[in-house]
Formats: sequence, C-alpha cells, structure tokens
Amino acid sequence: MHPRVKSPVRPELVEGRTGKVHFVRASTGSARTVVTMLSLFFLASLTSATSVLADKPLKVVATLSVFADLVKQIGGEDVKASYVASPRFNPHFIECKPSDVLRVKQADLLVDAGLDLEAWRGPLLDAAGNPNLFPGSAGELDLSRGISLLEVPTQPLSRLMGDVHIYGNPHYWMNPDNARIMAQEIAGKLSEVDPANAERYRQRLAEFLKRIDRKIAEWKQKAAVLQGREVVAYHTEWPYFAQFTGLKVEQFLEPKPGIPPSPKHLGFLEGYMRQHKIQAIIQPTYYQRDSSEALARRVGAKVVILCQNVGELPQAKDYFSMIDYNIDQLVQALGGGT
Ligand SMILES: [Zn+2]
Repeated sequence: MHPRVKSPVRPELVEGRTGKVHFVRASTGSARTVVTMLSLFFLASLTSATSVLADKPLKVVATLSVFADLVKQIGGEDVKASYVASPRFNPHFIECKPSDVLRVKQADLLVDAGLDLEAWRGPLLDAAGNPNLFPGSAGELDLSRGISLLEVPTQPLSRLMGDVHIYGNPHYWMNPDNARIMAQEIAGKLSEVDPANAERYRQRLAEFLKRIDRKIAEWKQKAAVLQGREVVAYHTEWPYFAQFTGLKVEQFLEPKPGIPPSPKHLGFLEGYMRQHKIQAIIQPTYYQRDSSEALARRVGAKVVILCQNVGELPQAKDYFSMIDYNIDQLVQALGGGT
C-alpha cells in the first residue's frame, strides 16, 4: 500500500515504470523543488512509449481476503489488491460500505467466489454500476469456474435446503489443491486484463506453484494423523479441507446451511457425538460460540477455532500460514489418537 503523502502530489503521477512509487516529500523540500521534480516526472512519462495509465498498478478488488492474498502473490507490485468482506465476519452475509461501492466502481478487475457465497455481491455491483465487472464480463474472475465442486445438489434448486449453498459448496479454497487452480486462473486473468505484464504474472505463478507443491507435501504428511478422524462443524465450510486432509465432517450445528442451531438439533448432536466419540467441534471465529461450547462441555469435547480467511486471526497472515495454522490446530487437538 502506498504511504500517504500530505501534499497536492498525487502518488500515481510519480510512479516509475516498474510500478514502484518514488515519493516526493513536499514537507521537507521547497515547493519549487517539488514542482520541478514533478514536471520532470511528468515530462518523462509523456515522452515514454507507454501511457501513464499503463504504468499504474492494476486495481483489483476481491470479495474475500483470501482471494486478495492470492492476487497479491501472483500480481506482486503490478497490482493493488484489496477486499470487501472483513475476515472477522461471516462471508455469506456482509454489509457493504459506501467505500466498498467506490472501490468496485473504480476497479479494473473483480475476483469472487461465484456460486452463492457472496449473497451481497449483486447489490454491491448494482450500486457500483461498473458493467465491466458484471458476472461473465471481461473484468470479472469467478474462481469457482475451474473447481470440481462438492455437494452439488442433485434435486431441483430450492432455498428450502438452506439459505446458502444451493449451487454446491462454495468454500473450495480450503483445499490447497484448489488454491493451485485458483492461482492459475488469477494469473490467466491478470495477463488478459494487463497483457503488458503477462510474463511477470507467469513467473510469479511458477514460483507460487513450486512453493505450494512443497507445502502440499508437508501438509499431507502432517495431516496423516487426521485421516478418518471425525469432527462436528458449525457450518459446512469444510468439505474441501476434509477432501485434502482426510478429516471426516458430516454433522453441523446448523441444521441446514445458514440456519442457526435449534435446541432439538443440538440434542441430536449430543447423542451423535457421544456415540461416535467425537472430540472436537470446529468453527471459524465469526460464529457465536455459546452453542458449540455448551455442546462440547456436555460431551467432553473441545471447540477448535480454525480460519476460513486470511487475517481472521493474526496467525493467518497469508494463504500458506492460514493452512499451516488450521492443520497445526487440528493435529494438536486430535493428534493423540482416538
Ligand atoms: Zn457457506
């Protein structure tokens, strides 16, 4: 992110060809020096072969922080990536701010989960009125398109099945094998929108894939103790994580996705957890914990907080540390055998 400059100097006027910003400190030099330097930069940009616009980092708005992180890893200094949904809130139900509308209005690219993960995306796009970012347009990347989806309903679609997930489970980024695919999709789209930097996106993608392949091997090895172990979850956010780790997650505090737990359903879960000797309830930070903690106490299990998004806890600094954290927490909670 660019530091703020308290002066009439607009940082984008002094961006170098590499996307790095050379700041002019108006407060330490004379106004004349600033003007002279600015004029030089401006003249240089006018005489360069490419336009000033092409030198600007691409403005990418992601719906979730985890997507913004992947965009940064592939886009590097060639993109300015931000996200809409605070990782501290349930990503299905976000209240967008006027500043979100403005950012989407000015964005070159929108990266989203697709399906019905972001119930708020349609109204946000309508408010921003940037047709280039509408679903299927050149400036939109729906990351679900490259993914083999799980829990795709076989019966006709209906909200009776729950408030969300009617097109299949949209929490697919929790499987690192899918993050590989998402990174490839991101690199492809960045190159399409910003062909001048395609080679740089390709290089960063190659580095990312090398790194994630090493980490996938490490995660698989660590998660071996989780194979076949069953936990109960608050919301069905985990089928892709389970696909990767071998964890078994079949019962949820929500009786249907997006529907809060009822006393009757909690009573059923109590019996189920005792019968199956389940030792942990998993959930991200943003669901209330009263029901999970009460249930866990009754059956002698523990509540394990895992991250769905980058920045949800300080330990989840980026995609890699988020998966590190989740696997470590589970291994710690369940690793001791049944
Ligand atoms: Zn969900």
